[in-house]
Amino acid sequence: HRTPLIAANWKMNGSAALAQDMTAALNELSQGTTTVVVCPPATLLTAFTNPKTFALGGQTLSHEVSGAFTGELSANLLLEAGATYVIVGHSERRELNFETDALIAAKLSRAVAAGLTPILCVGESLSERQQEKTQQVLARQLDAVYASQPELLANSVIAYEPIWAIGTGESATPEQAQATHHFIRQHLAKFNSQSAVTVKLLYGGSVNADNCVALFQQADIDGALVGGASLKPVEFAQICLAVT
Ligand code: 13P
Repeated sequence: HRTPLIAANWKMNGSAALAQDMTAALNELSQGTTTVVVCPPATLLTAFTNPKTFALGGQTLSHEVSGAFTGELSANLLLEAGATYVIVGHSERRELNFETDALIAAKLSRAVAAGLTPILCVGESLSERQQEKTQQVLARQLDAVYASQPELLANSVIAYEPIWAIGTGESATPEQAQATHHFIRQHLAKFNSQSAVTVKLLYGGSVNADNCVALFQQADIDGALVGGASLKPVEFAQICLAVT
């Protein structure tokens, strides 16, 4: 069966001091079946000097292998800095960095080829939800990656992050999140029915120590991708403990 995964997305926040504090808080947790992944800014990956109970991840990567791409980070550079996971297609990068579905598919494929586990982010905006286009948007985002490369699903983690719930303090309700996760899992079955059962589906959007328990009780929610609350070591450790 699916084991849980909790990921921290620090976005453009944090410091070497916070990396030390987070390491201390997480290394106290006993290593159970839950996978914990911290995705700090890439310059801080090596500031996690002794991660015993958790893995590290990048927040994005280049779809290119290497070369004249100023400011970009390759999969191999992330691996060398200690990352084993990488977030791909976060809504902030789709919106603010104009990442297209096609680019995100190329990045995901590069990540898997290099041996990084991608955490693919999908999710609808508020206006798309209000227009009842949620399923259409999610299908488009998933098809763009997996229709032409269905084998990558077996190596992926997928995070459903409704844009209206990110950083707003207004999480999706457990029922809303479960309904959407169920849709995603059903949709993924058309690429590979076995992988659709085994793939971990995370919820993201205003997850905190108080609301996570009800979210984790949902059948198709296997963990969370946590933003703001992942900058607080004690609260993030609580979230990691709340999932079973
Ligand atoms: P918040 O938890 O701050 O809403 O951020 C969610 C997110 O975007 C994680 O990737």
